[in-house]
Amino acid sequence: MKKDKKTIMEVSELDPVNSGGFLDISQRILLCAGRGRPSVEFLIELSDILASFFETDVLELWIKERGNCARWEATTNPRRFYRVENATYEALDARIKQGLTFIEEGDKSIACVPLVADKEPIGLLLFKRNQPGSFSSDLKQLCHYVSQTGAIAVTYHRVQLEQRERVKELTCLYEIARIASQQQLSVDQILSQIVAFLPPAWQYPEVTIGRIVLADSVYATEENAVARHLQKADVVIDGVKRGFVEVVYKEDKPELDEGPFLLEERRLIDTIAREIAAIVERKQAEEDRERLQEQLLHADRLATIGQLAAGVAHELNEPLGSILGFAQLASKHADLPEQVEKDLGKIESATLHAREVIRKLMLFARQAPPSKKKVNLNDLIENGLYFLESRCAKAGIDLNRGLTANLPEITADPSQINQILVNLIVNAIQAMEKGGKLSVDTFCDEKFVCMAVADTGSGMSTEIQKKIFIPFFTTKDVGEGTGLGLPVVHGIVTAHGGDIEIQSQPGKGTRFVVRLPIYSKPESIEEGSDHV
Ligand code: ADP
Ligand code: MG
Repeated sequence: MKKDKKTIMEVSELDPVNSGGFLDISQRILLCAGRGRPSVEFLIELSDILASFFETDVLELWIKERGNCARWEATTNPRRFYRVENATYEALDARIKQGLTFIEEGDKSIACVPLVADKEPIGLLLFKRNQPGSFSSDLKQLCHYVSQTGAIAVTYHRVQLEQRERVKELTCLYEIARIASQQQLSVDQILSQIVAFLPPAWQYPEVTIGRIVLADSVYATEENAVARHLQKADVVIDGVKRGFVEVVYKEDKPELDEGPFLLEERRLIDTIAREIAAIVERKQAEEDRERLQEQLLHADRLATIGQLAAGVAHELNEPLGSILGFAQLASKHADLPEQVEKDLGKIESATLHAREVIRKLMLFARQAPPSKKKVNLNDLIENGLYFLESRCAKAGIDLNRGLTANLPEITADPSQINQILVNLIVNAIQAMEKGGKLSVDTFCDEKFVCMAVADTGSGMSTEIQKKIFIPFFTTKDVGEGTGLGLPVVHGIVTAHGGDIEIQSQPGKGTRFVVRLPIYSKPESIEEGSDHV
């Protein structure tokens, strides 16, 4: 907008309200302040407007900002805008105190226009023209107006910017809180969602990359970009640095408080890093608590069932003994009708069955102490299989032995080892309703002697595999399964200091491997207390 002395005069004559272009320039200054762009962009536009309006050769702009005082310069030919230096408050205040002044310096005219908002000096404008005596009284009057409007514009822009930064900061923190509050999300999911909210919270979202690094995991909004500027805050958990949050500018941006970053952005990235640390910490605590709870629940269930079983077994054992004894006594009576004899036989076998259930319960409750001695696993298996062979044959099952010769002896309770074998084989037979192949193998390494029982039966889903050691868990019909076989196996194996492993595939078959230690701890030989 070119205006010389003459046109200004004309405008003021034509339009007294606009008094020499005042409304024009005020409107343009305020509009530019209202666009809410980053500070430097605003200052460039402001000086452009003023430079062309006042036809300055050089325009100097001093601005107090965030505890600093910066000095900028805009030249018209060539058209450039750059930060000259950091100025001091004292120098600025001293010049502002002089008020609106016009200086003639050789062949130059300079207008010093202080920017004062609410009596608070916030900056200074120097309009320099390479022409002596070039500020007419109208231009001087306009300088006076600009002194006020300019200050209002700078303040307005600043407030607006602060508000915008605050909104972005709050939005970012709100989003983080919202994501973190979703219970079902894992740390991984939370961090990959949070990282997307970093760029919009910074001044130049289009050139900003957010990155979160935690242990070995990296979450980034963009990969492999070259960083021109970088702001970073550590994620510290329990006093240990576990990772960091990083904001990267892909392009150069003008200097501000921390490189091209705002003071508010430093505070924000620090807060985000602290939030992330808190989220990770809370998630870990939650996971630990859940795991512990599950363990406790399992242990608790086992203990309760154990106590219950032991109590019930004790109570039932005695009357059962009487029933069995009297049934046997009665059956010895001479001249019993045939039917009565048969019925007594049924009582006897039913009682024996009940005793067997009780014995298993006692075993499960570990009330029966193992009486351990040196044994050869192969011998025990051979003996056990002797009684199971015919049952396999009847069910159309091929029995394969793969017993490795010269196994080292182990210290174990032979009847309990037999119990393991029987329970595993009965399960295998039941899993092969239409026949199949059953293999019993032994092998060993330096520390363990192992027995594997494998079938080609129905197999188990992973869901079922998770539950098979839970007492009373069964997939079989009443009368066929008690759900105590595998818990008993587990109890015996652990009492012997060993472990048990399952491999199973639905429709293909199952393989159990029981590993028993060659050298058991001496104290475990004496384990247990009450007898059945
Ligand atoms: P029960 O045999 O009385 O059901 P167990 O504790 O012996 O109780 O076994 C629990 C469950 O584990 C069985 O009901 C069955 O679903 C599953 N299971 C155990 N062994 C096998 C196997 N060899 N093949 C398929 N499923 C098995
Ligand atoms: Mg069973």
